[in-house]
Amino acid sequence: MHEIIFWIIIAIIILDFVFENYLEYLNTKMMGTLLPEELSGIYDQEKYSKQQAYQRDNLRFGIITSAFGFLLIMGMLLFYGFAYIDKLAWSITSNSILAALLFFGIIMFASDMLSMPFSLYGIFVIEEKYGFNKTNLKTFILDKVKGWFISAVIGGGLLSLLVFFYRKTENMFWIYAWLSVSAFSIFMTMFYSVLIVPLFNKQTPLEEGELRDSISLFANSVGFRLNNIYVINGSKRSLKANAYFTGFGAKKRVVLYDTLIEEMNTEEIVAVLAHEVGHYKKKHVIHNILISLAQSGAVLFLFSLLVDSPLLSNALGIEKPNFHVGVIAFGILYSPVSFLLGIFMNIISRKNEFQADAFASENYNPEALSSALKKLTARNLSNLTPHPLYVFFNYSHPPLLERLKRLR
Ligand SMILES: [Zn+2]
Repeated sequence: MHEIIFWIIIAIIILDFVFENYLEYLNTKMMGTLLPEELSGIYDQEKYSKQQAYQRDNLRFGIITSAFGFLLIMGMLLFYGFAYIDKLAWSITSNSILAALLFFGIIMFASDMLSMPFSLYGIFVIEEKYGFNKTNLKTFILDKVKGWFISAVIGGGLLSLLVFFYRKTENMFWIYAWLSVSAFSIFMTMFYSVLIVPLFNKQTPLEEGELRDSISLFANSVGFRLNNIYVINGSKRSLKANAYFTGFGAKKRVVLYDTLIEEMNTEEIVAVLAHEVGHYKKKHVIHNILISLAQSGAVLFLFSLLVDSPLLSNALGIEKPNFHVGVIAFGILYSPVSFLLGIFMNIISRKNEFQADAFASENYNPEALSSALKKLTARNLSNLTPHPLYVFFNYSHPPLLERLKRLR
């Protein structure tokens, strides 16, 4: 029986790899070097050629990266790499919390090291070539070290807690795990910009002036309390532009990239904000939090049914079931379910984007939003003609041309 599970795991990984690359291939069939009619006004011919070249480079690089990842996980499964790391962890400690920390620590550190050449190439060769990159090697290394530190503290802390609950309460552990994971994610949503972002970027309150006044004026006109407007130095790493909302309740804040402020005029920036306020007003933010809490509860419950089963650990070449090996096997077996859920979430998310656009155009200005979206797309050299199937499976936002059509 555990052999069947083993082959199911292998089949899932192969199917996932093939399908993902098939969708990428479909996207390439939509590419051309001549500017399509409906894109004039967004790209000129020269900029469009640049965009297509950027896309082609990213595509080739993406295939190589995903093939590498695929070979790595296949190797780990076929040659019982997880069993080896499990044995190694238990040879160092007999404590199940420490063993789990070592097990995931080794796997994550090793995979980060192995993927390092790819991220270096992506940033310092591809992004550099198209003039996006502002990261230097020092920032890159510091980011890595800080990233490891955060994963060790937060990931390690949560993992220890889960193993602890599992040891104490066995199959009821999922309830305690769910409560703590939920509390933690709500805490993080509220304090992310105060605790984590400052480790990587500088955030300064938006200075008094025309932009701030216009934003406040708009926020007041739709009865939206907004006291925290910040500018972040995104240009430290990349010239791509962005803006986002974070937190909720009294902790909500707007964060504008310095690159966005530089690129857009006041009306366009307010239109982008109006879209984000639309997400709040239409309750998308709270719905998303509730959906993700419900999902993590379901996942933890399912996992609690299977974690003790020797089938999972035997499939990975390990005799005695344990928590961390169960996580790996369950994670792969569950991935088709999360794939289907992901499709469903993307459908909802694309619908929400249209609603937020509609809110912005009813309460502010559809032309300003259209021109902001165009500028953002052109600046970031985004793909304007994705294949419809690719959009269906992977896009959380509708493609630009569809959004523009609705805004008209
Ligand atoms: Zn949105």
